[in-house]
Amino acid sequence: MLSLFDTALGYVTELEPSRPGKFSIYVCGPTVSGDPHLGHGRFTVVWDVLRRYLTWRGLDVRFVSNVTDIEDKIIVRAQAEGLPPEEVASRYEGVWWQTMSRLGVIRPDETPHATGWVPEMVDLIGRLVDSGHAYLAGDGVYFAAETVDDYGLLARQPLDTLRAGARLEASEAASKRSPVDFVLWKLAKPGEPSWPSPWGPGRPGWHTECVVMSLGLLGEDFDLHTGGLDLSFPHHENERAQAKADGKRFTRHWAHNGMIVDEGGEKMSKSVGNTLSLLDLLDAYDPRAFRLQVLQAHYRSPMAVGAGTLESTAGALERLDVFAREYAYAYTARPDQDALAKFRGFMDDDLDTPKAVALGFDLVKRARSARADEASALASAVFDIFERALGLVLNREARAVPDAVLRRAAERDEARARRDWGAADAIRDELKAQGWTVEDGPSGTTVR
Ligand SMILES: [Zn+2]
Repeated sequence: MLSLFDTALGYVTELEPSRPGKFSIYVCGPTVSGDPHLGHGRFTVVWDVLRRYLTWRGLDVRFVSNVTDIEDKIIVRAQAEGLPPEEVASRYEGVWWQTMSRLGVIRPDETPHATGWVPEMVDLIGRLVDSGHAYLAGDGVYFAAETVDDYGLLARQPLDTLRAGARLEASEAASKRSPVDFVLWKLAKPGEPSWPSPWGPGRPGWHTECVVMSLGLLGEDFDLHTGGLDLSFPHHENERAQAKADGKRFTRHWAHNGMIVDEGGEKMSKSVGNTLSLLDLLDAYDPRAFRLQVLQAHYRSPMAVGAGTLESTAGALERLDVFAREYAYAYTARPDQDALAKFRGFMDDDLDTPKAVALGFDLVKRARSARADEASALASAVFDIFERALGLVLNREARAVPDAVLRRAAERDEARARRDWGAADAIRDELKAQGWTVEDGPSGTTVR
């Protein structure tokens, strides 16, 4: 079975599904208050690859990812644009799914929306207040984080450090008993969207949404909760604390993907001014190049993105497309089993996609120099790995080569047959000048 680095444990561990043959995953989805950025692009592709790989491995995967459709940023934008918040949320949710389909990310089995689960959230908050884990103060209901004995587990830092590092907004500072406490229910200010609750009209806090929706849809003891590394603390830790305080068995494992950096290794952020827009990037490059780039970085490492890295990835993708065209006949062949076993070995070892991709390119090379029967088994393994397991669909549609060009290629073969190297080179140069790639193979000149 697959092993992953479990953030709660701090080491790589084998994932034993709670129900044999099945695997349940909850991924923290977007707050739909603006266009998706590169970090969104990366986490959705990383966890899409995990989902596809487990399915390819034969597991019945249930994949849930939420949409946060009520949140401060949505309200701020709605007020600035003079629109109802639900209109802003629905506009950016549309952009989100469009972008996901360009990235080749499969839709989650379920996409719970925060606004659809408010009564369940109010119920949880009520239980936490009753049991003394939460309290009403000033502008909302807060969770008393220090009532959970191992609070801070996912931050992997002592409570003192977390207390000292907590950033407090002025309005919260007056209400909180401890700097690490967090809001469960925000009382509505005039003009803000609200839902009824025993503490007054308001809206749920973000950390309460995910714990309620993941347990509500996947049940206790589900297999894996994931998201970007920036969510491990406080978001995921705060979800975990609420589940624990409510006496629920939460997720079995936690996994997090690394952040995006620029080509110089600098973290991308608006304040540094080195941000690249995901949507611009998808307009400028084949979206599959972005997926290949995500695969070529280990999911836990920082991933560099920029024009230079994307150019070279696009070139590598082109080589795979060319291979897929030439070996299209091998799609139905039985894949080389040793190659697939090796691939599984890399993927099962903490999702080592860089090694898996390198193996794929190595198989391409081997297929090109193998005997015909061997070549088709190797090529079939290449297609199985890239397309079915990793979700990188290759382009098998060849651009048609005109008859006149094919005739010149045949004339070049005739010239080579009579050892007239001068004439053969002249035809090659002529075709190259027209933009064709000319290659010599065992069956003569090929042009593409
Ligand atoms: Zn979440």
